[in-house]
Amino acid sequence: MAWRSSGGSNVDLIENLWRNGLISDPRVKEAFLKVDRAHYAPSSPYMDSPQPIGHDATISAPHMHAHATESLLQHVLPSDRNPAPRVLDIGSGSGYLTHVLAELVGDRGLVVGLEHIPELKELGERNMAKSEEGKALLDSGKVRFRVGDGRKGWDEPPREEGEGGSSDRGWDAIHVGAAAVKLHQELVDQLRAPGRLFIPVEDDHGFGDQYIWAVDKKEDGSIVKERLFGVRYVPLTDAPKRS
Ligand code: SAH
Repeated sequence: MAWRSSGGSNVDLIENLWRNGLISDPRVKEAFLKVDRAHYAPSSPYMDSPQPIGHDATISAPHMHAHATESLLQHVLPSDRNPAPRVLDIGSGSGYLTHVLAELVGDRGLVVGLEHIPELKELGERNMAKSEEGKALLDSGKVRFRVGDGRKGWDEPPREEGEGGSSDRGWDAIHVGAAAVKLHQELVDQLRAPGRLFIPVEDDHGFGDQYIWAVDKKEDGSIVKERLFGVRYVPLTDAPKRS
């Protein structure tokens, strides 16, 4: 199914993902159409497959980005209750998904791309600046790239000063683009209520299997964890030693 979605152009790729049911929400489709994957994937950008981006990292396959976006969508879109959603993209790599998410958060939303390799943080920024729209997102402060260990999450001040208090912190949605060895509690703690964490986690049976988990913090603060499907991601690790 995944490979069948490859196309000759960005529009082709997204239309094929749509036709094959890998994107099912029109708002998600619209966001994907706004982001040219050629600005983010150094080779075969319109194939529905991961591609190397250097530093042992890959840009994930478009159908995985589609799954992640659809899974997090309710928490990413602005609403009357929450006009300024806050979204954290851990292991931002190429910056592709960070950009797609930024197309969904509305005028007052914030998306932070977090990388533990400074060169990849810069790559994400550079890739996004290739388009007028991406550059405007960076200039407006709606998108920020940061360097840090994603296993600890991230504390980012709000875009609009003066709101004050801890209520303007935390994340409505957290996406993790690399496989964790466990469900890091810090990430669950940093979720707002309601909020959702989308994270690939290694199975503890030792066969190297990984599964996507969706962790929901409900409005009353209770936590519901659901194992969704098997995947293959690069690991969420310590930052490489600098020589
Ligand atoms: N979403 C990215 C995926 C890149 S691959 C994309 O589609 O382009 C996974 C990324 O996770 C790599 O860039 C890697 O450097 C990063 N990563 C791995 N461990 C990390 C950690 N502890 N903290 C932050 N980023 C990490």
